[in-house]
Amino acid sequence: MKTIGLIGGMSWESSIEYYRIINQVVRKELGGVHSAKSVMISLDFAEIEELQNRGNWDEATRIMVETARLVEKGGADFVLICTNTMHLMAEEVQAGINIPLLHIADATAQAIKQRELDIVGLLGTQFTMEKEFYRGRLEKIHQLKVLVPDREKREQVHRVIYDELVKGMITDSSRQIYREVIDTLVAGGAQGIVLGCTEIGLLVGQEDVPVPIFDTMEIHALAAVDAALGRGEYPV
Ligand code: GLU
Repeated sequence: MKTIGLIGGMSWESSIEYYRIINQVVRKELGGVHSAKSVMISLDFAEIEELQNRGNWDEATRIMVETARLVEKGGADFVLICTNTMHLMAEEVQAGINIPLLHIADATAQAIKQRELDIVGLLGTQFTMEKEFYRGRLEKIHQLKVLVPDREKREQVHRVIYDELVKGMITDSSRQIYREVIDTLVAGGAQGIVLGCTEIGLLVGQEDVPVPIFDTMEIHALAAVDAALGRGEYPV
């Protein structure tokens, strides 16, 4: 079994889910008391959020590259950035280490293609919904059409993530907001909904959505198990 490297803490509310899913699936697959070999470095999200807010992406990139190197030194065979947003600097992270980065958008695109869908709605932070690094990867590399909510709804989705989900707050009122945003995307042609923030799956599930959902946290964690066990699309 290969050792999974995880850059976590963004937020720990989702990192704990990565850890749980990875270990549960490895135990199920291998049986007995098997568990996943992993190394996690968990960052202080307050520091990261401040850099995001100030648009100080250079410093955020420096921290992410440095952390990925520490994960590599800790014995990881490949690395996951356990957040969609911080894939903004995925290229720099990959260039700074000698082990593969398992990109969350690639794993998600693969899951979408398995369902034979072409048009997806994307929910996430405003950075993820608006910047090119994520949508562009889905559209240009994976040939998917990506729909995002309008500006006002993007702000609402973003606010719920930073004011509630990363603090472990799950409320019915925010779930209702998300349902309405999702319904609008589906009415606009979305055949599936990408939960493109690793905490959104804590708020909404398949029961809230009339089309297939793609929970990036879960998909990414399962892809890590595939890679660790040397199967699937990720023979790292
Ligand atoms: N975990 C979230 C994501 O997947 C948001 C936190 C962050 O900004 O990294 O994008």
